[in-house]
Amino acid sequence: MPDLPSPTPTAGWSAPGAGAILEISLGAIAANFGLLNARTGTATCAAVVKADAYGLGADRVAPVLEQAGAKVFFVAHLEEGIRLRAHISPTCRIFVLHGPMPGTEGEFSAHDLLPVLNSLEQMAGWRAHAVAVGTPLPAAIQVDTGMSRFGLSEADVALVSGNPALLDGIDTRLVMSHLACADTPANPANAMQRDRLRAMAARLPDADLALSASSGIFLGPDYHFDLVRPGAALYGLAPNADMPNPLHPTVRLCARIVQVRTIAAGDAVGYGLTWRASGPRRIATLGIGYADGFLRHGADGGGCAWLGDYRLPILGRISMDSTTVDVSDVPETMLDAATHVDMIGPRRSVDDVAHSAGTIGYEVLTALGSRFHRAYLTQAA
Ligand SMILES: *Cc1c(COP(=O)(O)O)cnc(C)c1O
Repeated sequence: MPDLPSPTPTAGWSAPGAGAILEISLGAIAANFGLLNARTGTATCAAVVKADAYGLGADRVAPVLEQAGAKVFFVAHLEEGIRLRAHISPTCRIFVLHGPMPGTEGEFSAHDLLPVLNSLEQMAGWRAHAVAVGTPLPAAIQVDTGMSRFGLSEADVALVSGNPALLDGIDTRLVMSHLACADTPANPANAMQRDRLRAMAARLPDADLALSASSGIFLGPDYHFDLVRPGAALYGLAPNADMPNPLHPTVRLCARIVQVRTIAAGDAVGYGLTWRASGPRRIATLGIGYADGFLRHGADGGGCAWLGDYRLPILGRISMDSTTVDVSDVPETMLDAATHVDMIGPRRSVDDVAHSAGTIGYEVLTALGSRFHRAYLTQAA
C-alpha cells in the first residue's frame, strides 16, 4: 500500500495562508504505474503527462514515473514537451500528440521531441524538415479508426501506401490510434477500432502499434499491442464503472474552515438564497470555491465534504472563494478555524466529486487550480 494522504495535518503540512491544501501522493502515482505496467505484460507502458500531469504538476510527477520505470512519455503540445524535457533523462522518449504546427519542426529536433503526425500536411512538414537536415527523423503516425478526431483517414492511408515517397525521411517508430468507447467494455466500437488499426497499419511501414489509454488497458491483452498510453489511471481515476477501481487514490483535497455559525429555521444560504434551513443548523464556511477549480456544480447531486466519519452536505451554491457545509452533527470541539475538511479524500474520490457535478474525473482533476497550497508526499510505495 503506498503512503496514503495523512488523516490529520502533519508537520509542514498545515499552511495557514492557504484556503485549501492539495496533497499529492507521488508514491501512489508510482504504484499505479507499476500496477498498469504489470498488467500489460511485454507491451511498453508509457505515461501520459499532458495538461501538467492532469493538473498534479508534471515537473514533480514525471521524474517519479521515470524512476518507476517509464521510458516513454506523451504530452499534447510542443510547449509541454519542451518543459517536460528538463525534468526527465535524455534517454526518455517524449511524443507530442498534436504534432508539429507548420514551422515548428525544428523545435521538435532541438528539444529531442517526437511528433505524432496526424495528417498528410504534418507528414509533409516533417518530410521537408528531414530533407533539410539530411537525415531520416523518427515520428509516430496516427490513424483515425473511428473517432474522427486525429489521424490519417482510410483514404489518406491508401494514398500513402500507393505513394511511398510521401514517407521519405520519416522514420516511423509507432503507428497509433485512440479508442472512443474504451470505458464501456461491451461497446462493439472497441473491437471495430482494434481491427481497423490492424488493417490500416498493414498498409504503413512496419512499426510498433498502440491503441489503448487507461480504460483500453482493462479491455484485455487484445488491446495492448506494443505500447499503451495511460494517463487517468496513473492519477487514480477508475478505468470504467463496471468494476471496482484497482488503482490507488493519488490526491486529497482539504479545505480550511474559515467560520462557523448557527442559523435558524427559515434562514437561507448563499447566492440566490437557494437553500433554506427547515430547523436550526450549525454551518461552516470553507475557504474553497470555484476559482480554485472546485466545480460550481459540485453542490448539485448530493455534493458533500467529510470531517472524519461525519458527512457534511454542501448547502446552496458554491461561491468563487467559499463553500458552505452543514456541520450540525459534528461535536463542537472538532470545529475551529484550524480544522480542515476533506473535499476529496478517503471517503470521497475524485470520481465521486465528478459524479455529483455531472462530469467526469478527468475534468475535476485538471480543473483543480493553482490556488491551493500543494503538498507532495514523496514516500515510496
Ligand atoms: C489523453 C490521451 C491519452 C491518455 O488517456 P487516459 O484516458 O487519461 O488514460 C492517451 N492517448 C491519447 C491520444 C490521448 O489524447
